[in-house]
Amino acid sequence: MNKDIATPIRTKEILEKHGFSFKKSLGQNFLIDPNILRNIVGHAELTERTGVIEIGPGIGALTEHIARAAGKVVAFEIDGRLLPVLKDTLSPYHNVEVINQDILEADVQKIIDEKLSDYDDIVVVANLPYYITTPIIMKFLLERIPLRGMVIMMQKEVADRITAEPGTKSYGSLSIAIQYYMDAEVAMIVPKTVFMPQPNVESAVLKLTKKAEPPVDVIDEEFLFEVARGSFVQRRKTLLNNLQTSLPDGKAKKEDILLALNETGIEAARRGETLTIEEFGKLSNALYRDFH
Ligand code: SAM
Repeated sequence: MNKDIATPIRTKEILEKHGFSFKKSLGQNFLIDPNILRNIVGHAELTERTGVIEIGPGIGALTEHIARAAGKVVAFEIDGRLLPVLKDTLSPYHNVEVINQDILEADVQKIIDEKLSDYDDIVVVANLPYYITTPIIMKFLLERIPLRGMVIMMQKEVADRITAEPGTKSYGSLSIAIQYYMDAEVAMIVPKTVFMPQPNVESAVLKLTKKAEPPVDVIDEEFLFEVARGSFVQRRKTLLNNLQTSLPDGKAKKEDILLALNETGIEAARRGETLTIEEFGKLSNALYRDFH
């Protein structure tokens, strides 16, 4: 087996050899602990029949662990300075393809069709650039990229919000948007010391697994997320108050909202943070009928 990229000594050697300096604005905090990498890859349950999409390979620390376990890795890296580095560090692996592109601009479905269509399932495995954690996850979900799941490192605070249950402080529209599509669990909490340079925030690995069925039948998913967002605009306000001011087009009349709440058996005095996804689904369906 090849020597791991992700030891502190080897990482320093690679950075010096290529004269690479970190760009904080691109969320460049590289992993320097092979145990963490083995753990991340273990949670992804990869086989040679799995195609993996990685976001932000950096100098290839996680990429090589994925490459050893999966059929193929397609890695999107925005920083062109890392391309020659990756060419060097990943030269022993013939199942890795690096694409020099901003993941948020990429046509991921097209890349899957072109490069990963032979595989039984597709998984995202990544140590994400933290400044765009939520947009990246939402891109994959809203574009309906056919994933088995995602195993992704992120700020612990965001992982807590994604996995939060109703009635807790962290529960909000992000919990609802993601739990609508995916089962979500924090797979591990990760100390700052395993990164170079160390990030300012605590980290966690989140495991998302696609739900076989959405938890509730909704007429319009985008509208469900709008209703959820609108219900948390001011957390201390009631559902009725929040929805009156936050629903789109200013069309939400108090009577319409009361009617929809009544129809779904949800008390107007409740706060958004107490509603389950199922309740948000039913409420958004009732409101949708009022407005469309
Ligand atoms: N995977 C490496 C590791 O674990 O050591 C690096 C992870 S580092 C937290 C995030 C990586 O994402 C960096 O390599 C950075 O250049 C890259 N990146 C930042 N913004 C990106 C974007 N919009 N699209 C693709 N890659 C991006």
